[in-house]
Amino acid sequence: MDKAFNDLVRQTREKFLSFDLDGNNVALDFVNTVEYRDTPKVYEWITTYIDALGWAERVGIFSPEITEQLIARGYERDSSDWYNQIIEHRKILHRVFSTVIKQKQENPSVMNDLNVILQAARKRAVIDMNGSGFSWHFPDVKKDPTGFLQPVVNSAADFLVKSDMKRLKRCSDPECGWLFYDTSKNKSRRWCSMKGCGNRAKVNKFYLNHRNRDF
Ligand SMILES: [Zn+2]
Repeated sequence: MDKAFNDLVRQTREKFLSFDLDGNNVALDFVNTVEYRDTPKVYEWITTYIDALGWAERVGIFSPEITEQLIARGYERDSSDWYNQIIEHRKILHRVFSTVIKQKQENPSVMNDLNVILQAARKRAVIDMNGSGFSWHFPDVKKDPTGFLQPVVNSAADFLVKSDMKRLKRCSDPECGWLFYDTSKNKSRRWCSMKGCGNRAKVNKFYLNHRNRDF
């Protein structure tokens, strides 16, 4: 591959090194590839199928070698179908999680959409025995640049079935929009990260508490 390709791979990898894995679940981390959703500050991490592969490498679904092979697969070809499929999956997962967080009555169309992508993902799934336990395995994951969606959708389904939905939360920063699974002992986590929104909130509180004083 040429220099432009190598640069693209390197830039994508560098970009996703700064993507924080604060969701505590791979499907939540996937949904969190939109920051400041529904605000003028909206930031889209996934602007091409290549970004999606960079993300999949970051979360450990693909090795660096496989990521490069898959990027090469679509390089200089029309990849809009892959991209649309990736974004559509993310939209469906976000709608499901948001419905849970808002404690709305289950909307049948939300569940229908989820079940369609879940059945497609599990169609080729197998269960592997590893050591003392079992795990899902997706032999087609490397088949094309959308293959990573299979384990992501499967994790979302497992997560919904097995986890305590009271711990599924949206960051308390009204604009942030990131979702996370609160694993704290007393279910008290409020921010997607203490480094980002938690820290900003702390600084704002300090400012509000001190602005009327003379320094
Ligand atoms: Zn946040």
